[in-house]
Amino acid sequence: MALSIVHFPHPTLRHRSRPIVRVDARLREMAAEMLDLMYEHEGVGLAANQVDLPIRMFVANPSGKRGEGEEWIVINPVIDRPKGNEAGQEGCLSVPGLFAQVKRPKKVRLQGYDLSGNEINKELDGFLARVVQHEVDHLDGVMFFDRIGDEAKREIEGGLAEFQTTFESLQDTGSIPANEKLAEQLAVWEKAYT
Ligand SMILES: [Zn+2]
Repeated sequence: MALSIVHFPHPTLRHRSRPIVRVDARLREMAAEMLDLMYEHEGVGLAANQVDLPIRMFVANPSGKRGEGEEWIVINPVIDRPKGNEAGQEGCLSVPGLFAQVKRPKKVRLQGYDLSGNEINKELDGFLARVVQHEVDHLDGVMFFDRIGDEAKREIEGGLAEFQTTFESLQDTGSIPANEKLAEQLAVWEKAYT
């Protein structure tokens, strides 16, 4: 099975994912595929919800380039100890071409696990802190534009409406399964990994 990135308003983007309780070869393969997709689409982060998987895992590399910067695969991430506040531009591979200024804590602590079960516990700052907060939001079904003011929202609402129209026509023609079918598939993944 090849993973692909789903676009807004795919329902899995609004799904609150459950923690992973099982790591197997297939899950490791999916994490590797997520990194491939992230680099291919010139992103700096990708959450499992964005590839239609209802599990708490994300990949990231703030450099956006394979072999450069710091590459992350994080399972069951938890963020706490927010400090400060900073606005910065964000985009998302699930709404390519749309950007907005998003205000977030400047520093956070990230806890979680890597694919080998090693614990991650790091204080993050700046752009990496922003990327990780954006990705953990995805696992809770939250999009970056849920966190912007009405004025900023108005600027991208035309773009969001276009994504909505495209998604609906892809579902009408059967290129994307109906929401009930999508929910059935999520339940299968949840049973296997959460
Ligand atoms: Zn995103």
